[in-house]
Amino acid sequence: MSPGVLYLVPTPIGNRGDITRRALEVLAEVDLVLCEDTRRSGQLLRDYALHKPLQSHHKFNEHQSIGRLMGMLGEGKSIALVSDAGTPGISDPGFLVVRAALAAGHAVEALPGPTALIPALVQSGIPCDRFCFEGFLPVKKGRQTRLLELAQETRTMVLYESPHRLLKTLAQLAQTCGEERQASVSRELSKKFSETVRGSLASLQTHFQKQEPRGEFVIVLAGR
Ligand code: SAM
Repeated sequence: MSPGVLYLVPTPIGNRGDITRRALEVLAEVDLVLCEDTRRSGQLLRDYALHKPLQSHHKFNEHQSIGRLMGMLGEGKSIALVSDAGTPGISDPGFLVVRAALAAGHAVEALPGPTALIPALVQSGIPCDRFCFEGFLPVKKGRQTRLLELAQETRTMVLYESPHRLLKTLAQLAQTCGEERQASVSRELSKKFSETVRGSLASLQTHFQKQEPRGEFVIVLAGR
């Protein structure tokens, strides 16, 4: 452990056993843990008998807290950033504090670990040698433009989606990419009721019309 380092520490997306030994070592050593939800991350730390100061760091306060955090790194303190689940910075806060730390000359180290996009991609059966991560589609403004751009993309695409928007997104992807475009939908990865459904966009819509979408979803879409 070096002083004055900002660590990005992935945490489980489902099964608690997915936390790495190194993640626990870093969490045990740092001076401060930044997290989205202090109750949730507090529970994770308690599960491992780790007693660390926690500070909330989410999209609504990350701009304001950056100055103080840079001060701490400058004093040689080490900080771990975790998100509610998965890898910080992946559809979660992280980018702003990483950019600020690097600009101020501090070291940043990201630990490998859980994230939803990689298991969904590699078990999709769709080529995973080249892919692009799209995260969540824009909800309103820019959504149609993005859908049309994605229809032309030749690499495999990975998208995150919420249960209540899954069917709408599958329908819009079918409109722009064609009903026969192949895709894979993974839900509740690394959890007890994990399930992956593969097929054309048309067949996936039929599946989720019959079976109400529940839980967290990753869509993997074949390129053009
Ligand atoms: N930082 C996280 C990561 O590294 O994957 C992503 C956080 S983002 C706020 C939450 C979204 O990630 C969910 O809406 C879902 O699309 C996806 N996700 C997270 N956990 C998941 C899981 N266990 N199964 C399927 N999708 C998941």
